[in-house]
Amino acid sequence: MKPIITKIHEALNWASSFLKNQGREVFAAELLLRHHLKMSRTELYASLQDEWKNEAEKVEYIDSVFAFGNGIPVQYLIGSEQFYGRTFAVNQEVLIPRPETEELIEGVLQRIKQHFKEENKLSVIDVGTGSGIIAITLALEDPSLAVTATDIAKESLEVAEKNASELRAENVRFVQADLLSPFIENGEKFDVIVSNPPYIPESDIQGLADTVKDHEPLRALVGGADGLDYYRRFMEQLPFVVKIHALIAFEVGAGQGQDVAALLKETFDKQGINVEVVNDINGKDRMVYGTF
Ligand code: GLN
Repeated sequence: MKPIITKIHEALNWASSFLKNQGREVFAAELLLRHHLKMSRTELYASLQDEWKNEAEKVEYIDSVFAFGNGIPVQYLIGSEQFYGRTFAVNQEVLIPRPETEELIEGVLQRIKQHFKEENKLSVIDVGTGSGIIAITLALEDPSLAVTATDIAKESLEVAEKNASELRAENVRFVQADLLSPFIENGEKFDVIVSNPPYIPESDIQGLADTVKDHEPLRALVGGADGLDYYRRFMEQLPFVVKIHALIAFEVGAGQGQDVAALLKETFDKQGINVEVVNDINGKDRMVYGTF
């Protein structure tokens, strides 16, 4: 049922109670309203008594509230998410940035400083970049890095390239690739390899929120029967693309830290790799770093 809305506060009230009844987050009513009216929070609250005259805009808002009620994440409806203090465009071809991944970035930046000291321009590769958050954030936080971002899906790379140009990250190049294959072929090696690969075990997918399992791209989520398929593939490929001294950084699913650490130790035993499993702010093992 389409609501009858004259004033802006009526739109907000209708959407809030509609979403409450649907068991969805009520806060989205305001986010979507601000998006469609192109208003800051302050502007919105100063305009609540105004009439909403633009019918087309109003219909779009109502449709977006229904879509949110059906489980489409608000970030896809608005078309963006904040990450590391910047706005990244997203669509249904890419995973929505998660705050845990900000912790991965911090860990990588710290270890770059500690591990490489005064060496020359470092080359970094972000494998499976999605919306580009890891590659672009690293490139902007440390403009001295030469960053490569890959994804197997052209649709994801389009989003990442758009983000790089909007955010003026000039030190990032994009390559369509299945993990590290093209670099093995051309003999290119990197100082830093970062990845947040798909790591959810197949059997866990059904238990995820509908907003995730029905709307985010499964190719970015599912990591095989135990969630570790991509890490195992990395272990076959990494030895060909790392420099003599390197930093390898993975995001992992809670409970996977020790398994991924063991894979790295086994693969880079001869190099005397130092492996760390680091918990996220919620106390879950979330990052695995290897240095040699
Ligand atoms: N952190 C994501 C989630 O919990 C999963 C990301 C991934 O598979 N790399 O939905």
